Amino acid sequence: MNNKSSFIIVGGGMAGAIAAQTLREEGFDGNITLFGQEPNVPYERPPLSKDYLQGNAERDSILVHPESWYAEHAVELSLGGTVTSLDPAARSMTSATGTRQRYDKLLLATGSQPRRLSVPGADLGGVYYLRNVEDSDRIRIEFSRAKRVVIIGGGWIGLETAAAARAAGLDVTILEGGEMPLQHVLGPEVAPLFAELHRGHGVELRYRTTAVEMTGSRGAATGVMLNDGTRIDADMIIVGIGAIPRTELAAAAGLKIDNGIVVDEHLRTSDPDIFAAGDIASAYNPRLGRHIRVEHWANARRQGAVAAKAMLGQDVVDVRPSYFFTDQYDLSMEYTGDIGPAGYDRVIFRRYADSGQVIVFWLYEQRIQAGMNINIWDVAEDIERLIQSARPINADELADPAIPLASLL
Ligand SMILES: Cc1cc2nc3c(=O)[nH]c(=O)nc-3n(C[C@H](O)[C@H](O)[C@H](O)COP(=O)(O)OP(=O)(O)OC[C@H]3O[C@@H](n4cnc5c(N)ncnc54)[C@H](O)[C@@H]3O)c2cc1C
Repeated sequence: MNNKSSFIIVGGGMAGAIAAQTLREEGFDGNITLFGQEPNVPYERPPLSKDYLQGNAERDSILVHPESWYAEHAVELSLGGTVTSLDPAARSMTSATGTRQRYDKLLLATGSQPRRLSVPGADLGGVYYLRNVEDSDRIRIEFSRAKRVVIIGGGWIGLETAAAARAAGLDVTILEGGEMPLQHVLGPEVAPLFAELHRGHGVELRYRTTAVEMTGSRGAATGVMLNDGTRIDADMIIVGIGAIPRTELAAAAGLKIDNGIVVDEHLRTSDPDIFAAGDIASAYNPRLGRHIRVEHWANARRQGAVAAKAMLGQDVVDVRPSYFFTDQYDLSMEYTGDIGPAGYDRVIFRRYADSGQVIVFWLYEQRIQAGMNINIWDVAEDIERLIQSARPINADELADPAIPLASLL
């Protein structure tokens, strides 16, 4: 790659910031411009529903790099710089201010946005979504005034927000459309563990229930009407019903889209000079033999680095299992792996003397597909290696906490 080249990164989140860092670490000394729609330098989102939301983390602590890093590494930041169109044939992009800039390689890292609820009253004051740092600030301030919160959606963000609301002393009700929070991710064997955790902390959980209306008075939300006719009072409502990848730029530019921007194992889109990473990328994984799109922090980090190297012409592929984590009350866990379309046929619990500690494994045909360590540390790498080895596992040994995981490799 010619060192006088111009690389453009669209999206100032985790993937975009790590891509800029990796380009410089790999010795690229051409121009790098990072366009970010938000007014903030790139930051990490996981604390927004955890420490930061609870007022236990400073704003500076969530930055991917300190603000000064960008100038020090000659990364031109265009904050509040929304990219509005791409012209792949001319290798150029246009921003909302009318700036037109040419590129040699371009990375799309536009992330995702919350899925909106479209029921009557959804636009009332006191209805919140959580994606950006300002959302987290607003919710934290409202936590100090409100008494009752209804959280619509029992996914990771809904549950973490519930834990933060309980820590702030609010009455909390979670509405879940499915059988149980997280059941679609963890299955019926493990999902109850999180339901019990929240019940034990005083959260009211309602299953198989849908919000059909948000009631209000003088423009402010006062409660939620359910499909069974019940009304729940609330002075704030938080909606956490999933995220949608922001593929509009790519679609308008004619790039291939199928549940995200379709990229190969090098994160290259259907245009050879445009790459995609993070929440928006549906990437081919040669180990799994299929495309997957992952909305997690570690994926955005890893793909930001892989995309940067691929933009430099390096032959890199990331086949590591997916990874994510959560913190809720006194429970911290890491989850490693990907359950495929075939699902799993066995769940194994490795229980420790301390009842708060457990590792859960999901197996298919005796091979570990995923593992989740709860309140136990320094095992995620062993779990990752066990998954990657794809070896048949002895279930009794796996369940026995006296046998080190590394010895099963
Ligand atoms: C509240 C919350 C808690 C989370 N907790 C966890 C967790 O505990 N563990 C975990 O693994 N993951 C967690 N995640 C998910 C994780 O944060 C995301 O997977 C990660 O942020 C994805 O990074 P990204 O760079 O792909 O996208 P993003 O972080 O969404 O960044 C994309 C950026 O691009 C900008 N952008 C979009 N369009 C344009 C445009 N046209 N022009 C310019 N800029 C544009 C956006 O404004 C945004 O700033 C959490 C997410 C949220 C919201």
